[in-house]
Amino acid sequence: MTMLNDYLKDLAELVNRDAGTKNVAGVTSAAEVMKRHFESIGWEAELVDLGPEAGRGLLCKNKPGSTECDVIFNAHLDTVFPDGTAASRPFSIDGDHAHGPGCSDCKSGVLAIFYACRLARKEDLDRLSIWCVFNPDEELGSRCSKHWLTELAGHAKAALVFEAARAGGQLVRSRKGVATYKVTFRGLSAHAGNNPWDGRNANVAAMRFALAAYDLCDRERGTTVNPGLVNGGTGSNIISDKCEVVCDLRYWNDQDGDELEAAIKALAEKTWVEGVTNEWERISYSPAMPYSPDTKALVEKIDAAAEEAGFKAEWVDAGGGSDGNHMAVQGIPVVDGCGPAGGKFHTDQEFLRIDTIEERIHMIVNLIKRL
Ligand SMILES: [Zn+2]
Repeated sequence: MTMLNDYLKDLAELVNRDAGTKNVAGVTSAAEVMKRHFESIGWEAELVDLGPEAGRGLLCKNKPGSTECDVIFNAHLDTVFPDGTAASRPFSIDGDHAHGPGCSDCKSGVLAIFYACRLARKEDLDRLSIWCVFNPDEELGSRCSKHWLTELAGHAKAALVFEAARAGGQLVRSRKGVATYKVTFRGLSAHAGNNPWDGRNANVAAMRFALAAYDLCDRERGTTVNPGLVNGGTGSNIISDKCEVVCDLRYWNDQDGDELEAAIKALAEKTWVEGVTNEWERISYSPAMPYSPDTKALVEKIDAAAEEAGFKAEWVDAGGGSDGNHMAVQGIPVVDGCGPAGGKFHTDQEFLRIDTIEERIHMIVNLIKRL
């Protein structure tokens, strides 16, 4: 059997089990499959309890008991698909594409990590400490695993995330950070016809705020503010006494993020309509995965590793976040999209490009030589 045949057989085993994020038993069974794989090549593999809502993650080390590592390889075990999908739409191959729930997001990456570690040269494995980290709840924002990922990254020199490469094959060298703010404006209602001047219009305050917040966008720097939700009022003939604005903030590095947050807070605390009060709340926060000088050096090693594997690595900067952001916060270089290429994630059209499986595995083996 060739490596590709083995890989596709192992991939079918992973895809043909329901592993939606909320199916704790299903996700944990995927972790158990990978635990057996890593134990079969003599690695230490430990299931890590991440709480009743997430199930088990898996941490595999080539050097048992190691407390520091040269590199983390990370991929997630969960999918977005409900129970029953594996039976109704099992793993299949159609020409150059493989299909099935999570085939490309992110089971192909999970397995590419294992195959690269299995293929790595003994002298490299003797020299390096490698941790393979599989988390069970990425599709729900890694609520239960992100602190674990951040903690592990604090003991690592670099990290690679094995989300699929883009359908065109591109990897991801940076990702924007994201923060979400909710600002609630409270005024006083009144009849729009009888006594409009007795009211304090929360909608007007919210709209003035939203326009000013939007003006913080800086196309050059790539910082954006999107007042994506504005929700206020109960009728056109009523002066609105309440309005909420939710803004999505994005930035390429955390310094830009800090500046943007300070500016948003200042606007959220300003008086926009006399008599209307505001309160703000940060709902979520994810640091940036920046294209730093250290990342550039890692990208160059991967470029050389890809060339040796017979293809040219191409890169994109992504506006959306991933688990890479949770590890980059430690200041280590992180890149993403290191798995085989695919597309149409989160749909029944999801596909994995079979022609990229072997080249990406060889790329990682070649990278390991260069670490
Ligand atoms: Zn996904």
